[in-house]
Amino acid sequence: MRPRRARRRLVLVGNGMAGVRAIEELLELAPNLYDITVYGAEPHGNYNRILLSPVLAREKTFDDIMLNRAEWYAERGITLRAGAEVVCIDRAGRRVSTADGSGAPYDRLLLATGSTPILLPIPGSELDGVVTYRDIRDVERMAAAAAPGRRAVVIGGGLLGLEAAHGLQKRGMDVTVVHLCETLMERQLDAPAGDLLRRSLEERGLNFRMAARAAAILPGPGSRAGRVAAVRLEGGEELAADLVVMAVGIRPNVALARACGLPCDRGVLVDDTMQTFDPAIYAVGECVQHRGACYGLVAPLFEQAKVVANHLAELGIARYSGSAVSTKLKVTGVDVFSAGDFIADADSEELTFRDAGRGVYKKLVVKDDRIRGAVLYGDTVDGAWYFKLMRDATPIADFRENLLFGQAHVGDSGTAGADAVTSLPDSAEICGCNGVCKGEIVRAITAKKLFTLDEVRKHTKASSSCGSCTGLVEQLLANTLGGDYSVPPAKKPMCACTVHTHEEVRQAITEYGLKTISAVMRFLEWKMPDGCHKCRPALNFYLLCAWPGEYEDDRHSRLINERAHANIQRDGTYSVVPRIWGGVTSPHELRAIADIAEKYRVPTVKVTGGQRLDLLGVRKEDLPKIWRDLNAAGFVSGHAYGKALRTVKTCVGKEWCRFGTQDSTALGIRLERAAWGSWHPHKVKLAVSGCPRNCAEATIKDFGVVCVESGYELHVGGNGGMKVRATDFLCKVETEEQVLEHCGAFLQLYREEGRYLERTAAWIERVGLSHVKQRVVDDAASRSALHGRFLEAQRHAQVDPWAERASGKDVNEFVPLEPARAAEPA
Ligand SMILES: Cc1cc2nc3c(=O)[nH]c(=O)nc-3n(C[C@H](O)[C@H](O)[C@H](O)COP(=O)(O)OP(=O)(O)OC[C@H]3O[C@@H](n4cnc5c(N)ncnc54)[C@H](O)[C@@H]3O)c2cc1C
Ligand code: SF4
Ligand code: SF4
Repeated sequence: MRPRRARRRLVLVGNGMAGVRAIEELLELAPNLYDITVYGAEPHGNYNRILLSPVLAREKTFDDIMLNRAEWYAERGITLRAGAEVVCIDRAGRRVSTADGSGAPYDRLLLATGSTPILLPIPGSELDGVVTYRDIRDVERMAAAAAPGRRAVVIGGGLLGLEAAHGLQKRGMDVTVVHLCETLMERQLDAPAGDLLRRSLEERGLNFRMAARAAAILPGPGSRAGRVAAVRLEGGEELAADLVVMAVGIRPNVALARACGLPCDRGVLVDDTMQTFDPAIYAVGECVQHRGACYGLVAPLFEQAKVVANHLAELGIARYSGSAVSTKLKVTGVDVFSAGDFIADADSEELTFRDAGRGVYKKLVVKDDRIRGAVLYGDTVDGAWYFKLMRDATPIADFRENLLFGQAHVGDSGTAGADAVTSLPDSAEICGCNGVCKGEIVRAITAKKLFTLDEVRKHTKASSSCGSCTGLVEQLLANTLGGDYSVPPAKKPMCACTVHTHEEVRQAITEYGLKTISAVMRFLEWKMPDGCHKCRPALNFYLLCAWPGEYEDDRHSRLINERAHANIQRDGTYSVVPRIWGGVTSPHELRAIADIAEKYRVPTVKVTGGQRLDLLGVRKEDLPKIWRDLNAAGFVSGHAYGKALRTVKTCVGKEWCRFGTQDSTALGIRLERAAWGSWHPHKVKLAVSGCPRNCAEATIKDFGVVCVESGYELHVGGNGGMKVRATDFLCKVETEEQVLEHCGAFLQLYREEGRYLERTAAWIERVGLSHVKQRVVDDAASRSALHGRFLEAQRHAQVDPWAERASGKDVNEFVPLEPARAAEPA
């Protein structure tokens, strides 16, 4: 951590969505690099501007849309100057100042001053009751003027104007929208879609004057002389109004930048690193012009924020190369989606689909076999998919004829009937505002065990901005959690057979001394008398863990591999893996394995990824015999089939390797001898590498040891499976004894706290590394107690299951079923 004095000073001007997002990204990358000061002209913390319309429509409160309150800044040591407008930047002196003369020096300055709404220069625009639509103050003004029966005129039938109109109508006002063009939202919609939208909004009671221009705003007579009373259109028609909202566009707010001499065009000019012409000053958000483009939606601004954070963090590798944008309208019950160039030109063609009965319209603009733009009205489910095809420039010739019917109809590979989100690839963007793709959401749901929309919002930000992807996120939740997702539950039961969570069940087992599966089920009032394939193995493990030596393993609650003590393969045969301690074997052992393989005609002998030999293709009825022979040659079961300790992978270490600093092989064998036979919530793999070159890949194991000159670095929670996760560093110890104690304590904590079928990686992510450190590293008494319980459990667990079965235990499991014979003829 840098000492405070060495920190640089970063000043952000503009406490809005882009600027604060940049700070959030920066804090992730380099939390201690800067002393940060934020100036915001608005007197609040940072809020979600996108959600002003739901506040106006009374669907949300201002409190609901706060993103970062004053405490957020304080907790991160950020100085917030809310309600302080910066009026001057002294670039030579590297200082910003406000109107009252206060200010702050900077080493780096970030401008994120957003946009200013355009006020039409028509007579009367200064009257009381004429508002623009940009910030919460505007919403408050509109709310104050709104009352049932009063009349509002909204000038501008674009995205903001329609949202304002909808919000005011929800407050009971009689609303007329005056729009210059023939088509609503003409920058996002073509004529047919705009028409459908208008008709649908008319059905909801909004009034429209299309192709109409406001010429003047008229005051009332007498005491209402300073207040708006009507809007006069070109042509003379007057629309009575108690409130006029101007939503006719925005302009990048460049006043401050221009005044200090920074080159600006429509916006502040920036390069691909978001740097202005002054290398000490960066700019992001709506105030910026990048490669000729200004953006007015958050998705591109957040991409910019990522890039600027990368440069402020002095990583210097990110580049912003512009964004493709898509738009959705946030008016409840109206589904509109648009992206790209949606008006065909001479070189492109239009594919359209119209179902007036259902109010569905879709148009795709295609050029050179690629989608260039899309407009969807009424059915926007495939919006994300079209947007992805467009952004990736995917050739569409192969499925062009089905394109308009949506992804579910393209190349049915057995997914017909599934909802659209199922067939989206992981890289498909679900939340455009925050740039979150499907894979990220699904990973968060599984890894972080999320069950509710709010949790997904918190962990991934998806659906937390405009909210129009909420439906898709909910589908993802439902698909990922399967039957578990209906109404978001406050707590997740172990399975459908009970209302209790894994933790509650385990607590009941120990607290009330429950010692059989049926006792647990009776006591906790299981809904299904015999439980199911999910809860029975879990209960069996929890009881085994709680009552070592006392609880008698329930064979019927084991999965098939554990019941058969061998791994079932795709052809119904089994694979047998003898334990090879620390991966070290001998000619005698190899000979024995070779003889056994020949004797039982084992078709394949394979070296596994965990340094063992796998005898593949063994018939079930031969298993006890093979085990007996392997036992006779000195082998025990390798538990390659179980939720148990599997292997301890080692490198050759100090004994043979030029680089080895410790005897990693011997340590690996000691660890395996100590931990073999232990049952766990899931499989567990260990490894020991003799030096930081890490040839045993210890940093993707559940517990990994990396030997160094001065001792042993311990790593936990790695996973080399489908989702690779590198370990977290647990601590460093000096002796092998300490390694063994920490390992035992760690495994026992996992046994006691991990949910059945939860790997160490997921468990650590759930409970937090600091919790594990606290119990295993910081608190010596806790470590010793955990280790003690592990050793006690091991006294009962280290019984070779093969030997038991070879001597006749559970013999029925291995007797093949006789095929039913036809009755003998008399
Ligand atoms: C009603 C509404 C609905 C919207 N809906 C959507 C939507 O559905 N989807 C979407 O993607 N986008 C939407 N947007 C647009 C989105 O909100 C903006 O693109 C985004 O907020 C811009 O972020 P920014 O940080 O550049 O500007 P802002 O969020 O406007 O932040 C700029 C801040 O800088 C402050 N500031 C300016 N000058 C100074 C100064 N000199 N000193 C101190 N502070 C200063 C301003 O007061 C402001 O708080 C909507 C916008 C509005 C108004
Ligand atoms: S990890 Fe180090 S000691 Fe072990 S084999 Fe690799 S280089 Fe040698
Ligand atoms: S990686 Fe897949 S195919 Fe290979 S052994 Fe594991 S489960 Fe089987």
